[in-house]
Amino acid sequence: MNPKAYHLVSLGCAKNTVDSESMSQLLNHEGFHPTDQPSQAGVLIVNTCGFIGPAKEESLQVLKDLAKKKRKGQLLIAAGCLTQRYGMEVARQVPGVDGILGTQRWMDVVEVVQRTREGKSPQPQYHLPEPAQTSPSARPGEPAVPIELPAKETGVLRAAVLGASAYLKIADGCRRPCAFCAIPLIKGTAISRPMEAILHEAQVLQEAGIRELILIAQDTTDYGYDLGRSPAGARQDLPLLLQRLAAQAPGIDWMRILYLYPGFVPEPLLEVMASNPQILPYLDMPLQHAHPETLRRMQRPANIDWTYRTIEKMRLALPDLALRTTFIVGYPGETEAEFQALLDFVKELRFDRVGVFQYSFEPGTPSEPLGDPISAAVKQERYERLMELQQGISLERNQSQVGRTLPVLIEGTGDGVSLGRSYRDAPEIDGMVIVEGELPVGEIIPISITGALTYDLSGVPAQTAHLQLIQPGSEAASLLRSKKHRTRHHD
Ligand code: SF4
Repeated sequence: MNPKAYHLVSLGCAKNTVDSESMSQLLNHEGFHPTDQPSQAGVLIVNTCGFIGPAKEESLQVLKDLAKKKRKGQLLIAAGCLTQRYGMEVARQVPGVDGILGTQRWMDVVEVVQRTREGKSPQPQYHLPEPAQTSPSARPGEPAVPIELPAKETGVLRAAVLGASAYLKIADGCRRPCAFCAIPLIKGTAISRPMEAILHEAQVLQEAGIRELILIAQDTTDYGYDLGRSPAGARQDLPLLLQRLAAQAPGIDWMRILYLYPGFVPEPLLEVMASNPQILPYLDMPLQHAHPETLRRMQRPANIDWTYRTIEKMRLALPDLALRTTFIVGYPGETEAEFQALLDFVKELRFDRVGVFQYSFEPGTPSEPLGDPISAAVKQERYERLMELQQGISLERNQSQVGRTLPVLIEGTGDGVSLGRSYRDAPEIDGMVIVEGELPVGEIIPISITGALTYDLSGVPAQTAHLQLIQPGSEAASLLRSKKHRTRHHD
């Protein structure tokens, strides 16, 4: 066991992965190095997820498994969303935990390791935000919500690299009031990162050979509301950020934006997307439901006319738009008629991708008083009906791609085929393009689409001449090797 080796398990979403990567950077800077063997590591870290019940259980289970096998001298640190919300509870349920880090204290990881090693306290080291730092948007009568201190984040790249793609956090936290969601309780209100810092990091990622930049936040449309940049308000800041990113990182081929909040999608955003080929015509706008009454109970924007109008505008401005959304079924009070309205809406709007979640009761959220009255069987049945409907639509949307030539970012090869993604596929959540032949990983290659499945496409390289250039031992192959090396350097 090496005291300078750490084993880090990152659970949950891409936003958590970015925090995990930031902790790794800080540890590496202090002479630590990662290992995928828990038994070899002096420090075990689990960056937990506390979003919904099953995610909490998974996080606790991973912590318990590591605690059970913990060896003498090893430290176990629980970080992330679950610990932010239930730090004491985690320490009680997992006796081997030595340190607790809240979501907004990832930057204290080295300090927690050092203090725990010094043995200053037999109790777990708690690094949760100080209670005085509270959210300006906490609602009356609710517990104060801690906020992140932006000054503390300097010095590390707030990005997670995944092959030739990188997630870049533009803000953290959320100030929307969605009744079912625990995120504002966990993360606090939204804090936008300074635009100059994001631009600088995009340039660093460009130099590292990144081909796709994915901008993330709990609500990207809210980016900049707190930066005080212009009286026009936050709605101008996301388009401005995209415009400046495209100008300052021209070597990044693809820029993708996730998680738009309905009701707040500005027209300038569509204009910037339409006029800049680097920004992919792909949008992910979680709508959660389509019946105004359900949406009102969810404390979400309930103006369905706005949704119809905006999706029409999006499709006019971006004719090749791939549109993704998510829905929750089985929210308290959802009647069969409300659910049927959701089905009708999905049938009419024909989204490219849809994610469906069954409502998960979260104590402490504004939905708590509504209870969880819809049975698991009804939730499951509605989930299956909606999934089945969407599968037919997804297949049809995919079939409409057959005959097109799509640039595909190659992510892996083996057994005579390559796997990649087109602009229509965000990593980890959407489909893949399966391509004949083993193509260079990390390159964007034009592919003729020849087949369609519900989630994935298949195709063949459109320019075989290009392939002939990249043979083992050729100049192009050594260039690729050096590019891959640069990419790995920032992994
Ligand atoms: S927009 Fe709503 S669902 Fe999304 S993180 Fe914020 S509160 Fe939660």
